[in-house]
Amino acid sequence: MRSALRAAGVEAADVEARLIAATASGKTTAQLLRDMTLYDTDEVEKRAADMLRRRLAGEPVAYITGVWEFRGLPMEVNPEVLIPRADTEVLADEAIAFLEGDRRDGRVLDLCCGSGCIGLAIADALPRARVTLADISAEAIEVSRRNAARNGLAERVGYVLCDAMAPPPVSLGSFDLIVSNPPYIASFDILTLDASVRDYEPIWALDGGEDGLDFYRAIVKGWTASLRRGGALMFEVGEEQAAEVMALMSEAGLRGAASVKDTRGTERVVKAFK
Ligand code: GLN
Repeated sequence: MRSALRAAGVEAADVEARLIAATASGKTTAQLLRDMTLYDTDEVEKRAADMLRRRLAGEPVAYITGVWEFRGLPMEVNPEVLIPRADTEVLADEAIAFLEGDRRDGRVLDLCCGSGCIGLAIADALPRARVTLADISAEAIEVSRRNAARNGLAERVGYVLCDAMAPPPVSLGSFDLIVSNPPYIASFDILTLDASVRDYEPIWALDGGEDGLDFYRAIVKGWTASLRRGGALMFEVGEEQAAEVMALMSEAGLRGAASVKDTRGTERVVKAFK
């Protein structure tokens, strides 16, 4: 399996082979390493072969295993939600650092939550924070609900089905922090994405309109009013988008707009305060 993945150009062939073998046998990768019996039945071997076939066809391994880690938390994923990216941990880190200041019991909104990874990482790090997960997709809300339960956070998290492009429902109230990793790929660039992204991940979670900035415009315009004084708005942004998004935030009257780089040196997060 490892050599087949390597031959197909899969960079993390070792890790992915182990993930697929573990998923097929219903063991954790740690159990698998301990007992070293890869396939104890034909059934398991057949399942592994089927999963390998899907991977070689280009499907991301996370949709095959059905779970992906974000900041150490296991997140269920399926093709209704984006697979959490390591880059996005920068946004969660910034959000947590802000709340650790003097808003540990703050109200937090994760807008366009998808799997719920950002909001749930915040809820996990800050036991007194009150987190609301919002998405336009009912399927995503269901996934995020299961992810809250899986990580023991169900009692502290609320859910709202709503459109980030429209004004917030009044009943939502106000927040100390709004975080969002909205769709931000320019429509034309969707075609140039990696096939494993373009052909398998939900396009509506990626497509940010003609210049990729539609959601930032709508959220800055429509949702700033839902921020409490001293509260923060934080976004993940795509390459080369930081300056324009910071300008949108400043124009809307937010202060202290700044960007934060990811581990590869790309400006990945922008934040500003009310
Ligand atoms: N970072 C994602 C990608 O590379 C895009 C995420 C988004 O549009 N919010 O595909």
